[in-house]
Amino acid sequence: MATEKLSFEDLKLSRQFLNAIDDLGYTDPTPIQQKAIPRGLAGHDLLGIAQTGTGKTAAFVLPILMKIKYAQGENPRALIMAPTRELVMQIKTNLDGLSTYTDLRVVALYGGLGPKQQIEELEKGVDIIVSTPGRFLDIYKKGVIVTKQIKTLVLDEADKMMDMGFMPQIKSMLEIMPRKRQNMLFSATMPDKVVKLTEEFLEFPERVEVAPQATTVDAIDQALYEVPNMKTKINLLEHLFHDLRLNRVIVFVKTKTNADNVARFLDRKELGPVRVIHANKGQNSRINAMEDFKSGEVRVLVSTDVTARGMDISMVSHVINFDVPLIYEDYVHRIGRTGRANNTGVAITFANEAEMIHVGRIEEIIRKPIPRKEMPEKVVVEKTPFEEKQLIAREIDLIKRKENPDFKGAFHEKKRNMDKKRKFTPPRGKNKRKGRR
Ligand code: AMP
Repeated sequence: MATEKLSFEDLKLSRQFLNAIDDLGYTDPTPIQQKAIPRGLAGHDLLGIAQTGTGKTAAFVLPILMKIKYAQGENPRALIMAPTRELVMQIKTNLDGLSTYTDLRVVALYGGLGPKQQIEELEKGVDIIVSTPGRFLDIYKKGVIVTKQIKTLVLDEADKMMDMGFMPQIKSMLEIMPRKRQNMLFSATMPDKVVKLTEEFLEFPERVEVAPQATTVDAIDQALYEVPNMKTKINLLEHLFHDLRLNRVIVFVKTKTNADNVARFLDRKELGPVRVIHANKGQNSRINAMEDFKSGEVRVLVSTDVTARGMDISMVSHVINFDVPLIYEDYVHRIGRTGRANNTGVAITFANEAEMIHVGRIEEIIRKPIPRKEMPEKVVVEKTPFEEKQLIAREIDLIKRKENPDFKGAFHEKKRNMDKKRKFTPPRGKNKRKGRR
């Protein structure tokens, strides 16, 4: 393949799509689009290795739109599967934008809401369905979807689908698809499970890849602070908000409780407006929070990993990993929120002693060290409370024992001694422990 840069015109897209691309403000196709679109248009099966933020969605959407062009009949002719409702909605937004000058009917199916409205939409006639695997099968079983005209099938973020245990649903879905069709599979990483899936799903695929496996987007400046405990993390967060004049920020945390606590703190310090998104928040609340963030009304989103992948939020100036993600590849997805489509961004990670071990593994995956930063002088370093110390020690033990089952952790020694001690000094009522761990 020639390495010269192609324009959207060179990609031989119809005028109505070029106009839509223009409206969206895309000037040039991104590398994955330059590689995938011609092959997609030629009808090949595609294996796309690209992480979010590379423009991968338009890379599979444009060939589909070119293929089906205008509304026809009642039944879907293309099906796009994605692991989360956020991602489904993001793909739908992309499709709507790019098909503005057509009469194509795109229906998004996802859980969290009753299926009634989605079924009604399907019954009006549909050309393209975007769906999560579970919801697609649920509605299919009700007899609402006729699959025989589906000529293009896309699996987006296949690695995430495997992580989420969607293999059985994907197998059932493949059984009801017509044999003759074009398949495209996109994944940010290629673990064994995905390789196996590609062997079953794709026929003589053309492989297109934009960044080496799981490396982070170059436009992102990464930094790492070693922070001993939660309270100090909060102090550092406050300091960075002032010091870096953080503007459009996503703060990632590992639990819903942390999400609520961090958001409450930022709110109290008047560093917001701030919104929280996690799995306990209703669908509408999550959508509204995201919309308000996109429009600039909300300055900070505090999020757990549930939402990390599907979010299509560009122009995020800073991603802060308040906690280190335990699914290491989520690091790539989290920081992929910034530096999207030619914007530069900054990703800052806070890690306590246990999390520093996870950071080491993440660095192996991204194949480069995350630059360390000294704790700023102004930040007050708090003493680690006893309970938190225990939690950190226990986590270190757990990690070590995972690697070496014979490892006898220091924590357990201590705990045994403490238990003995407790026998003699019964705990006082007012110090009852909160929380599960
Ligand atoms: P994706 O990787 O598909 O999630 O896309 C990331 C972001 O880049 C989305 O906000 C897209 O709208 C945007 N985008 C996609 N293609 C281009 C392009 N050629 N030029 C500029 N932005 C783009």
